[in-house]
Amino acid sequence: MNKQTLEELKDKLEKEKAALEGQLKTFADKDPNLKGDWDSKFPKFNGEFGGAALESAADEVEEYGTRLPVEHSMELKLRDINIALEKIGTKDYGKCEDCGKDIDEKRLMVNPAARLCMKCQK
Ligand SMILES: [Zn+2]
Repeated sequence: MNKQTLEELKDKLEKEKAALEGQLKTFADKDPNLKGDWDSKFPKFNGEFGGAALESAADEVEEYGTRLPVEHSMELKLRDINIALEKIGTKDYGKCEDCGKDIDEKRLMVNPAARLCMKCQK
């Protein structure tokens, strides 16, 4: 892989990372103790047990439930991007983690955080 392609892929990864972190920030707190882990902000109950308060608390819990899978998939994507960024300065970047062959550059252009080649992904 030539240097220019590598720079381009690194740039893509950094942009994608910034975008993902920006999105995660809107509904999650970055865990200060665990690198790369994000916690959803659990809705705060206001402690009042009136009918209206309970109803709105139930809505918030429901919202939390639908948000979790989204957060999880974004977290996984971010993790792959971080792994790729760590590898990009080394010979390991662009190599399939399964068979060790070079991952097709066209595939990396679409998904610079790809960890497996097309064949192994199947
Ligand atoms: Zn492979």
